[in-house]
Amino acid sequence: MRNDAPNIPTSIRPTLLVHGGAWAIPPEMAEDHQRGVAHALEVGYAILSEGGTATDAVEAAVTILEDDPTFDAGRGSFLTSEGKVQLDALLMDGATLRAGGVACVEHLRNPIQAARLVLDKSPHIYFVGQGAEAFAARHGMKLIDNSELVLDRERIRLKEAQERLAAGQPDQTFSGPLAQDDKSPETAAQHRAEELASKVGLGFSPGIEEFDSTWALAPEVGLSSEEQPAPADPKFESHDTVGAVALDQYGNLAAGTSTGGTLNKAPGRVGDSSLIGCGCYADNHSAAVSLTGWGEPIMKLVLGKWATDRVSQGVTPELAAQQAISYLFARLGGHGGIILLGPDGQFGIAHNTPGMAWGIANKTGHRTGLSI
Ligand code: ASP
Repeated sequence: MRNDAPNIPTSIRPTLLVHGGAWAIPPEMAEDHQRGVAHALEVGYAILSEGGTATDAVEAAVTILEDDPTFDAGRGSFLTSEGKVQLDALLMDGATLRAGGVACVEHLRNPIQAARLVLDKSPHIYFVGQGAEAFAARHGMKLIDNSELVLDRERIRLKEAQERLAAGQPDQTFSGPLAQDDKSPETAAQHRAEELASKVGLGFSPGIEEFDSTWALAPEVGLSSEEQPAPADPKFESHDTVGAVALDQYGNLAAGTSTGGTLNKAPGRVGDSSLIGCGCYADNHSAAVSLTGWGEPIMKLVLGKWATDRVSQGVTPELAAQQAISYLFARLGGHGGIILLGPDGQFGIAHNTPGMAWGIANKTGHRTGLSI
Protein backbone atom coordinates (compact mmCIF):
# COMPACT_ATOMS: atom_id res chain seq x y z
CA MET A 1 0.00 0.00 0.00
CA ARG A 2 1.39 3.32 -1.01
CA ASN A 3 0.01 6.79 -0.74
CA ASP A 4 2.06 9.89 -1.28
CA ALA A 5 -0.24 11.75 -3.62
CA PRO A 6 0.35 15.47 -3.42
CA ASN A 7 -2.59 16.88 -1.52
CA ILE A 8 -4.07 20.27 -2.17
CA PRO A 9 -5.06 23.19 -0.03
CA THR A 10 -8.57 23.09 1.37
CA SER A 11 -11.54 24.96 -0.08
CA ILE A 12 -10.50 24.46 -3.68
CA ARG A 13 -13.46 23.81 -5.91
CA PRO A 14 -14.19 22.17 -8.16
CA THR A 15 -12.30 18.88 -7.94
CA LEU A 16 -12.60 15.60 -9.83
CA LEU A 17 -10.83 12.31 -9.18
CA VAL A 18 -11.08 9.21 -11.34
CA HIS A 19 -9.64 5.71 -11.25
CA GLY A 20 -9.34 2.94 -13.81
CA GLY A 21 -9.12 -0.09 -11.52
CA ALA A 22 -6.57 -1.46 -9.08
CA TRP A 23 -4.57 -4.39 -10.42
CA ALA A 24 -1.25 -5.31 -12.03
CA ILE A 25 -1.50 -3.20 -15.16
CA PRO A 26 0.56 -4.94 -17.85
CA PRO A 27 3.22 -2.66 -19.39
CA GLU A 28 1.64 -2.89 -22.83
CA MET A 29 -1.62 -1.49 -21.43
CA ALA A 30 -0.05 1.29 -19.36
CA GLU A 31 -0.32 4.02 -21.97
CA ASP A 32 -3.96 3.23 -22.71
CA HIS A 33 -4.78 3.42 -19.03
CA GLN A 34 -3.08 6.78 -18.61
CA ARG A 35 -4.71 8.15 -21.73
CA GLY A 36 -8.11 6.82 -20.65
CA VAL A 37 -8.12 8.41 -17.22
CA ALA A 38 -6.80 11.68 -18.70
CA HIS A 39 -9.69 11.73 -21.17
CA ALA A 40 -12.26 11.08 -18.43
CA LEU A 41 -10.74 13.86 -16.32
CA GLU A 42 -10.85 16.31 -19.20
CA VAL A 43 -14.51 15.68 -19.99
CA GLY A 44 -15.66 15.55 -16.36
CA TYR A 45 -13.69 18.58 -15.27
CA ALA A 46 -14.96 20.66 -18.19
CA ILE A 47 -18.49 20.08 -16.86
CA LEU A 48 -17.47 21.19 -13.37
CA SER A 49 -15.64 24.26 -14.71
CA GLU A 50 -18.71 25.33 -16.61
CA GLY A 51 -20.84 25.21 -13.47
CA GLY A 52 -22.13 21.66 -13.86
CA THR A 53 -22.96 19.51 -10.87
CA ALA A 54 -20.77 16.89 -9.27
CA THR A 55 -23.32 14.24 -10.26
CA ASP A 56 -23.19 15.33 -13.92
CA ALA A 57 -19.39 15.32 -13.90
CA VAL A 58 -19.15 11.87 -12.33
CA GLU A 59 -21.68 10.43 -14.76
CA ALA A 60 -19.80 11.92 -17.71
CA ALA A 61 -16.37 10.79 -16.53
CA VAL A 62 -17.57 7.25 -15.87
CA THR A 63 -19.33 7.17 -19.25
CA ILE A 64 -16.00 7.96 -20.95
CA LEU A 65 -14.31 5.14 -19.05
CA GLU A 66 -17.15 2.72 -19.85
CA ASP A 67 -16.83 3.58 -23.54
CA ASP A 68 -13.09 2.99 -23.46
CA PRO A 69 -12.45 -0.72 -24.11
CA THR A 70 -9.25 -0.50 -22.07
CA PHE A 71 -11.24 -0.76 -18.86
CA ASP A 72 -13.36 -3.42 -17.22
CA ALA A 73 -16.58 -1.46 -17.54
CA GLY A 74 -19.02 -1.22 -20.43
CA ARG A 75 -17.74 -2.56 -23.73
CA GLY A 76 -14.55 -4.58 -23.34
CA SER A 77 -15.39 -5.85 -19.86
CA PHE A 78 -14.28 -9.19 -18.55
CA LEU A 79 -16.61 -12.05 -19.40
CA THR A 80 -18.64 -14.26 -17.13
CA SER A 81 -17.89 -17.98 -17.11
CA GLU A 82 -20.59 -18.26 -19.79
CA GLY A 83 -18.89 -15.73 -22.05
CA LYS A 84 -21.20 -12.75 -21.54
CA VAL A 85 -20.63 -9.21 -20.36
CA GLN A 86 -22.64 -8.52 -17.22
CA LEU A 87 -22.39 -5.01 -15.81
CA ASP A 88 -22.97 -3.27 -12.46
CA ALA A 89 -22.91 0.48 -11.65
CA LEU A 90 -23.88 2.93 -8.92
CA LEU A 91 -24.17 6.72 -8.89
CA MET A 92 -24.72 8.68 -5.68
CA ASP A 93 -25.45 12.34 -5.01
CA GLY A 94 -23.93 13.52 -1.73
CA ALA A 95 -26.23 16.53 -1.42
CA THR A 96 -29.47 14.55 -1.27
CA LEU A 97 -28.18 11.03 -0.56
CA ARG A 98 -30.14 9.92 -3.60
CA ALA A 99 -28.56 6.96 -5.33
CA GLY A 100 -29.20 4.82 -8.37
CA GLY A 101 -27.79 1.37 -8.96
CA VAL A 102 -28.07 -1.37 -11.55
CA ALA A 103 -26.59 -4.84 -11.56
CA CYS A 104 -26.28 -7.83 -13.89
CA VAL A 105 -27.31 -5.80 -16.93
CA GLU A 106 -26.34 -7.32 -20.26
CA HIS A 107 -27.89 -5.04 -22.85
CA LEU A 108 -26.87 -1.52 -21.86
CA ARG A 109 -23.80 0.20 -23.24
CA ASN A 110 -23.56 2.63 -20.34
CA PRO A 111 -24.87 1.27 -17.06
CA ILE A 112 -23.83 4.47 -15.25
CA GLN A 113 -26.45 6.30 -17.34
CA ALA A 114 -29.07 3.76 -16.28
CA ALA A 115 -27.94 4.35 -12.70
CA ARG A 116 -28.49 8.08 -13.25
CA LEU A 117 -32.02 7.41 -14.44
CA VAL A 118 -32.72 5.35 -11.34
CA LEU A 119 -31.31 8.16 -9.18
CA ASP A 120 -33.38 10.83 -10.92
CA LYS A 121 -36.60 9.07 -11.77
CA SER A 122 -37.28 6.23 -9.38
CA PRO A 123 -38.36 6.03 -5.76
CA HIS A 124 -36.23 2.89 -5.64
CA ILE A 125 -32.46 2.78 -5.43
CA TYR A 126 -31.48 -0.46 -7.08
CA PHE A 127 -32.60 -2.55 -10.05
CA VAL A 128 -31.14 -5.80 -11.34
CA GLY A 129 -31.14 -7.78 -14.56
CA GLN A 130 -34.15 -7.56 -16.82
CA GLY A 131 -35.97 -5.20 -14.46
CA ALA A 132 -33.08 -2.76 -14.67
CA GLU A 133 -32.99 -2.99 -18.43
CA ALA A 134 -36.74 -2.55 -18.74
CA PHE A 135 -36.55 0.53 -16.48
CA ALA A 136 -33.75 1.99 -18.58
CA ALA A 137 -35.58 1.26 -21.82
CA ARG A 138 -38.76 2.90 -20.50
CA HIS A 139 -36.69 6.01 -19.93
CA GLY A 140 -35.23 6.07 -23.40
CA MET A 141 -32.07 4.00 -23.22
CA LYS A 142 -31.31 1.75 -26.14
CA LEU A 143 -31.03 -1.98 -25.46
CA ILE A 144 -28.24 -3.60 -27.43
CA ASP A 145 -27.15 -7.13 -28.13
CA ASN A 146 -24.71 -8.44 -25.56
CA SER A 147 -22.28 -9.35 -28.34
CA GLU A 148 -21.76 -5.62 -28.98
CA LEU A 149 -20.09 -5.42 -25.57
CA VAL A 150 -17.87 -8.47 -26.09
CA LEU A 151 -14.38 -8.11 -27.51
CA ASP A 152 -12.36 -10.96 -29.04
CA ARG A 153 -9.59 -9.97 -26.64
CA GLU A 154 -11.91 -10.95 -23.79
CA ARG A 155 -13.01 -14.20 -25.40
CA ILE A 156 -9.35 -15.21 -25.59
CA ARG A 157 -8.70 -14.00 -22.07
CA LEU A 158 -11.61 -16.04 -20.72
CA LYS A 159 -10.58 -19.16 -22.62
CA GLU A 160 -7.04 -18.89 -21.30
CA ALA A 161 -8.23 -18.27 -17.76
CA GLN A 162 -10.53 -21.28 -17.87
CA GLU A 163 -7.77 -23.46 -19.32
CA ARG A 164 -5.39 -22.38 -16.60
CA LEU A 165 -8.03 -23.00 -13.98
CA ALA A 166 -8.72 -26.48 -15.38
CA ALA A 167 -4.98 -27.16 -15.27
CA GLY A 168 -4.82 -25.99 -11.65
CA GLN A 169 -2.58 -23.05 -12.53
CA PRO A 170 -3.02 -19.51 -11.27
CA ASP A 171 -4.06 -17.05 -13.93
CA GLN A 172 -1.27 -14.49 -14.28
CA THR A 173 -2.62 -12.71 -17.32
CA PHE A 174 -3.39 -9.64 -15.27
CA SER A 175 -1.39 -10.08 -12.16
CA GLY A 176 2.09 -10.51 -13.54
CA PRO A 177 4.41 -12.81 -11.62
CA LEU A 178 2.80 -13.71 -8.33
CA ALA A 179 5.84 -12.48 -6.44
CA GLN A 180 4.96 -8.98 -7.57
CA ASP A 181 1.24 -9.37 -7.22
CA ASP A 182 0.49 -7.90 -3.87
CA LYS A 183 -3.19 -8.62 -4.23
CA SER A 184 -3.08 -12.37 -4.67
CA PRO A 185 -4.01 -14.16 -1.47
CA GLU A 186 -1.04 -16.44 -1.66
CA THR A 187 1.35 -13.51 -1.90
CA ALA A 188 -0.56 -11.69 0.78
CA ALA A 189 0.04 -14.61 3.09
CA GLN A 190 3.78 -14.12 2.69
CA HIS A 191 3.69 -10.67 4.19
CA ARG A 192 5.05 -10.50 7.65
CA ALA A 193 2.55 -9.54 10.26
CA GLU A 194 4.91 -7.02 11.82
CA GLU A 195 5.18 -5.16 8.53
CA LEU A 196 1.42 -5.03 8.35
CA ALA A 197 1.07 -3.86 11.90
CA SER A 198 3.45 -1.02 11.19
CA LYS A 199 1.44 -0.02 8.13
CA VAL A 200 -1.93 -0.45 9.74
CA GLY A 201 -1.21 1.09 13.10
CA LEU A 202 -3.26 0.09 16.09
CA GLY A 203 -6.66 1.03 17.29
CA PHE A 204 -8.11 2.84 14.29
CA SER A 205 -10.52 0.24 13.20
CA PRO A 206 -13.87 -0.30 14.87
CA GLY A 207 -13.43 -4.05 14.93
CA ILE A 208 -9.77 -4.21 15.90
CA GLU A 209 -8.80 -3.37 19.45
CA GLU A 210 -5.43 -4.88 18.91
CA PHE A 211 -3.89 -5.99 15.63
CA ASP A 212 -4.29 -9.74 15.25
CA SER A 213 -1.58 -11.00 12.93
CA THR A 214 -3.48 -14.16 12.05
CA TRP A 215 -6.10 -12.09 10.28
CA ALA A 216 -3.55 -10.91 7.81
CA LEU A 217 -2.80 -14.47 6.85
CA ALA A 218 -6.38 -15.56 6.21
CA PRO A 219 -7.81 -14.44 2.87
CA GLU A 220 -11.28 -15.35 4.06
CA VAL A 221 -11.55 -15.28 7.81
CA GLY A 222 -14.07 -17.75 9.13
CA LEU A 223 -13.99 -20.12 6.17
CA SER A 224 -12.66 -23.63 6.55
CA SER A 225 -9.74 -24.61 4.36
CA GLU A 226 -12.13 -26.43 2.00
CA GLU A 227 -14.27 -23.31 1.71
CA GLN A 228 -11.37 -20.98 0.92
CA PRO A 229 -11.48 -19.76 -2.67
CA ALA A 230 -8.98 -21.61 -4.82
CA PRO A 231 -5.76 -19.62 -5.19
CA ALA A 232 -6.04 -20.12 -8.93
CA ASP A 233 -9.39 -18.39 -9.04
CA PRO A 234 -8.96 -15.61 -11.59
CA LYS A 235 -11.13 -13.27 -9.59
CA PHE A 236 -8.11 -12.53 -7.44
CA GLU A 237 -6.13 -11.37 -10.41
CA SER A 238 -8.24 -9.13 -12.54
CA HIS A 239 -9.47 -5.76 -11.35
CA ASP A 240 -10.12 -2.95 -13.72
CA THR A 241 -13.30 -1.30 -12.57
CA VAL A 242 -13.72 2.44 -13.08
CA GLY A 243 -14.89 5.20 -10.78
CA ALA A 244 -15.07 8.92 -10.17
CA VAL A 245 -15.72 11.30 -7.28
CA ALA A 246 -16.36 15.01 -7.64
CA LEU A 247 -16.84 18.20 -5.67
CA ASP A 248 -18.66 20.94 -7.57
CA GLN A 249 -18.54 24.68 -7.12
CA TYR A 250 -21.71 24.56 -5.03
CA GLY A 251 -19.96 22.38 -2.46
CA ASN A 252 -21.77 19.17 -3.38
CA LEU A 253 -20.13 15.77 -3.63
CA ALA A 254 -20.97 12.81 -5.88
CA ALA A 255 -19.52 9.37 -6.54
CA GLY A 256 -19.88 6.74 -9.25
CA THR A 257 -18.46 3.26 -9.83
CA SER A 258 -18.98 0.97 -12.82
CA THR A 259 -17.68 -2.52 -13.51
CA GLY A 260 -17.84 -5.64 -15.59
CA GLY A 261 -16.92 -7.48 -12.40
CA THR A 262 -14.28 -10.14 -12.21
CA LEU A 263 -12.98 -12.36 -14.99
CA ASN A 264 -14.80 -15.70 -15.27
CA LYS A 265 -17.32 -14.70 -12.59
CA ALA A 266 -20.40 -16.83 -12.15
CA PRO A 267 -23.42 -15.36 -13.95
CA GLY A 268 -25.49 -13.33 -11.51
CA ARG A 269 -22.57 -12.59 -9.20
CA VAL A 270 -22.58 -8.98 -7.97
CA GLY A 271 -19.46 -7.45 -6.43
CA ASP A 272 -18.92 -4.41 -4.27
CA SER A 273 -18.80 -1.79 -7.02
CA SER A 274 -22.49 -1.03 -7.34
CA LEU A 275 -23.49 -1.70 -3.74
CA ILE A 276 -24.18 1.45 -1.77
CA GLY A 277 -21.57 1.98 0.94
CA CYS A 278 -19.36 -0.82 -0.38
CA GLY A 279 -17.72 0.22 -3.68
CA CYS A 280 -19.33 3.66 -3.82
CA TYR A 281 -20.77 6.27 -1.48
CA ALA A 282 -21.23 10.04 -1.28
CA ASP A 283 -22.45 12.30 1.49
CA ASN A 284 -21.78 16.03 1.72
CA HIS A 285 -21.42 15.58 5.48
CA SER A 286 -18.50 13.19 5.12
CA ALA A 287 -16.92 12.38 1.74
CA ALA A 288 -17.30 10.75 -1.67
CA VAL A 289 -15.60 7.44 -2.39
CA SER A 290 -15.10 4.92 -5.17
CA LEU A 291 -13.36 1.60 -4.62
CA THR A 292 -11.92 -1.10 -6.82
CA GLY A 293 -10.41 -4.47 -6.10
CA TRP A 294 -11.40 -7.84 -4.78
CA GLY A 295 -15.10 -7.23 -4.27
CA GLU A 296 -16.07 -9.81 -1.68
CA PRO A 297 -13.85 -8.53 1.16
CA ILE A 298 -14.78 -4.92 0.33
CA MET A 299 -18.45 -5.86 0.67
CA LYS A 300 -17.94 -7.62 3.99
CA LEU A 301 -16.32 -4.51 5.46
CA VAL A 302 -18.76 -2.05 3.81
CA LEU A 303 -15.52 -0.28 3.12
CA GLY A 304 -16.77 2.79 1.27
CA LYS A 305 -18.94 3.85 4.19
CA TRP A 306 -16.18 2.87 6.61
CA ALA A 307 -13.83 5.31 4.86
CA THR A 308 -16.30 8.19 4.60
CA ASP A 309 -17.24 7.78 8.26
CA ARG A 310 -13.62 8.25 9.20
CA VAL A 311 -13.53 11.52 7.28
CA SER A 312 -16.63 12.74 9.14
CA GLN A 313 -14.82 11.88 12.36
CA GLY A 314 -12.01 14.26 11.42
CA VAL A 315 -9.49 11.98 9.72
CA THR A 316 -8.05 13.52 6.56
CA PRO A 317 -9.13 11.79 3.32
CA GLU A 318 -5.47 11.08 2.63
CA LEU A 319 -5.08 9.14 5.87
CA ALA A 320 -8.56 7.58 5.72
CA ALA A 321 -7.77 6.21 2.24
CA GLN A 322 -4.59 4.58 3.52
CA GLN A 323 -6.36 3.23 6.56
CA ALA A 324 -9.18 1.74 4.49
CA ILE A 325 -6.77 -0.22 2.31
CA SER A 326 -4.72 -1.30 5.30
CA TYR A 327 -7.88 -2.42 7.08
CA LEU A 328 -9.01 -4.35 3.99
CA PHE A 329 -5.76 -6.26 3.96
CA ALA A 330 -5.31 -6.66 7.70
CA ARG A 331 -8.82 -7.92 8.29
CA LEU A 332 -9.46 -10.09 5.24
CA GLY A 333 -6.30 -10.21 3.17
CA GLY A 334 -8.13 -8.09 0.59
CA HIS A 335 -6.54 -6.07 -2.17
CA GLY A 336 -7.77 -3.04 -3.98
CA GLY A 337 -7.71 0.70 -4.36
CA ILE A 338 -9.67 3.78 -3.32
CA ILE A 339 -10.23 7.39 -4.26
CA LEU A 340 -11.71 9.55 -1.50
CA LEU A 341 -12.69 13.23 -1.64
CA GLY A 342 -13.81 15.46 1.20
CA PRO A 343 -16.19 18.43 1.02
CA ASP A 344 -13.22 20.82 1.33
CA GLY A 345 -11.39 19.39 -1.71
CA GLN A 346 -8.90 17.35 0.31
CA PHE A 347 -8.44 13.94 -1.19
CA GLY A 348 -6.79 10.57 -0.71
CA ILE A 349 -5.69 7.91 -3.18
CA ALA A 350 -4.38 4.53 -2.04
CA HIS A 351 -4.00 0.97 -3.32
CA ASN A 352 -2.18 -2.19 -2.33
CA THR A 353 -2.14 -3.68 -5.82
CA PRO A 354 0.87 -3.21 -8.11
CA GLY A 355 -0.98 -0.50 -10.03
CA MET A 356 -4.08 1.67 -10.20
CA ALA A 357 -4.65 4.22 -12.94
CA TRP A 358 -5.75 7.46 -11.28
CA GLY A 359 -6.29 11.08 -12.15
CA ILE A 360 -7.09 14.30 -10.35
CA ALA A 361 -8.18 17.65 -11.74
CA ASN A 362 -8.62 20.84 -9.79
CA LYS A 363 -7.64 24.49 -10.19
CA THR A 364 -3.98 23.56 -9.88
CA GLY A 365 -4.16 21.39 -13.01
CA HIS A 366 -4.65 17.81 -14.14
CA ARG A 367 -2.45 14.95 -12.94
CA THR A 368 -2.57 11.24 -13.77
CA GLY A 369 -0.58 8.21 -12.73
CA LEU A 370 -0.51 4.44 -12.82
CA SER A 371 0.38 3.94 -9.17
CA ILE A 372 0.71 5.96 -6.00
N1 ASP B 1 -14.57 -4.69 -7.36
C1 ASP B 1 -14.93 -5.30 -8.60
C2 ASP B 1 -15.72 -6.54 -8.35
O1 ASP B 1 -15.40 -7.26 -7.43
C3 ASP B 1 -13.77 -5.64 -9.46
C4 ASP B 1 -12.81 -4.53 -9.66
O2 ASP B 1 -12.75 -3.56 -8.92
O3 ASP B 1 -12.07 -4.60 -10.64
O4 ASP B 1 -16.63 -6.79 -9.10
